[in-house]
Amino acid sequence: MLSQEKEVSEEVLPQKGEHLLSHQISAWTQDPGSGNQPNGGQLIQLNAPKLSSKPLPTTIHGQAPSAKVYPPGTAGFRYWNTASALRRGSDYWGKLLPGITWQMGKTLPIDLDFGVDLNAYYDRVGLKFFHATVAGRTVFSCESPDVVCHEQGHAVLDAIKPQLWDAASIEAGAFHESFGDISSILCALQLQSLRIAVLGETDGNLYRSSRLSRLAEQLGWAIRQDFPTAVDADCLRNAVNSFFYRDPNTIPSSGPANTLTSEPHSFSRVFTGAFFEGLAGMFKLRTDQDEENLLQVSLDMGKILVTAIRNAAVVPAFFSQIAVNMIQAANLQFASINYGQALRSAFVRHGILSPATTTITAITEPRSMADGNENDATELPKMNLSVKEYDLGVDEIVVHAAIATSRFEVAGAALSMGSLDMPSHEDTAKSFVEDLLRRGRLKIDSITNKKNRGMAITRPNAPDTHETYTHELREENGSVILRRIRIDCGFTC
Ligand SMILES: [Zn+2]
Repeated sequence: MLSQEKEVSEEVLPQKGEHLLSHQISAWTQDPGSGNQPNGGQLIQLNAPKLSSKPLPTTIHGQAPSAKVYPPGTAGFRYWNTASALRRGSDYWGKLLPGITWQMGKTLPIDLDFGVDLNAYYDRVGLKFFHATVAGRTVFSCESPDVVCHEQGHAVLDAIKPQLWDAASIEAGAFHESFGDISSILCALQLQSLRIAVLGETDGNLYRSSRLSRLAEQLGWAIRQDFPTAVDADCLRNAVNSFFYRDPNTIPSSGPANTLTSEPHSFSRVFTGAFFEGLAGMFKLRTDQDEENLLQVSLDMGKILVTAIRNAAVVPAFFSQIAVNMIQAANLQFASINYGQALRSAFVRHGILSPATTTITAITEPRSMADGNENDATELPKMNLSVKEYDLGVDEIVVHAAIATSRFEVAGAALSMGSLDMPSHEDTAKSFVEDLLRRGRLKIDSITNKKNRGMAITRPNAPDTHETYTHELREENGSVILRRIRIDCGFTC
């Protein structure tokens, strides 16, 4: 077992009128595990956070235990550990997105323990966390700030870009997962102790595997006990990776963790890898590679990212669209420092942009934030899609297609040279539906009859206590429509 550093920090200062809540609580800085160990990690003591405060209030179901330092493994620890991660995420994203509200209203509800599973999900009702016992050890997904900030990231992105929720596009779903991991990384960087630790661990060179790049080490350990090739050797996913972009409609739906598949968490690693390399490149451009500059880069990156997401059109090659919008935002918002080049280099090195994308041509005019246009719509345009060959009991369904007018004419890099052809929105939607079927994530019960029930693809390891489908076919206004139910972040083989 690795030693657990203990420290006292003033990182969460009490807000005005919060003096009654300024009791100290204990939490993990990032993750309770370390590498291929379920133990370890760094404990920190913080002032008790107030979840109901703006920006982006949250609430945890059930009675709050009194605010004090509890030992890890207790319900009191889990409550305050989760609360401090939620507050950090709400403060970080809320300051970058003034006035933004959750999809479900003013407050985001949280269930700390929704049942038995190695899982956590966001379902537009709230965030749900689970527990499971593996190799004699019970792992609670809410005990990991990495997992908490990842789930909260889904809710934040849904607030910024609700169109992505129902998008019939593998790449849109994968971007949601990447944003979750980016949220874990950027929120962790708001802790001074983490910044100091990661700079010490990497000798100031951020683009190295470290506690910052290794996401959800303990949950990764738990999954690895039963499914050794399903996750990385020392974490759930690592943001320092060399995955190169492929058209997600042309790669397998499943595979071991060292291969790239169209499964959203697997494919998300291409974007997360480029993001992390870009972050490291931006940090290198700063005058000093110290913790203050690392904090500044994390704030600058957040500003660039939310501007890009707001401006990006939801098209089949969505990673490339986000990438060019990030470069443009960096060039406009940070003209005195060459963040744009650091970002472009990272996106080219991961194949999200082709090296031939030397000049970026907008095919529509840039807009101000206040302008209303298709990028602000809550849903993508609907399209009819033939699904006759799957014998689901219906010949045609309605999907929300990645059909928005592209602001930038870019696509990912081809494996030989130049750029890939942008896939059509029809092929993208069809490939998305077939991928859901292959992975057993499409619920068809509501529209199918007895004869077709055998056509559903099932998973032997799916939990009996709760659903882990991500999508369903639903009847609405006389049509059968594909709707997302939840963004499920757990592992069911
Ligand atoms: Zn997720």
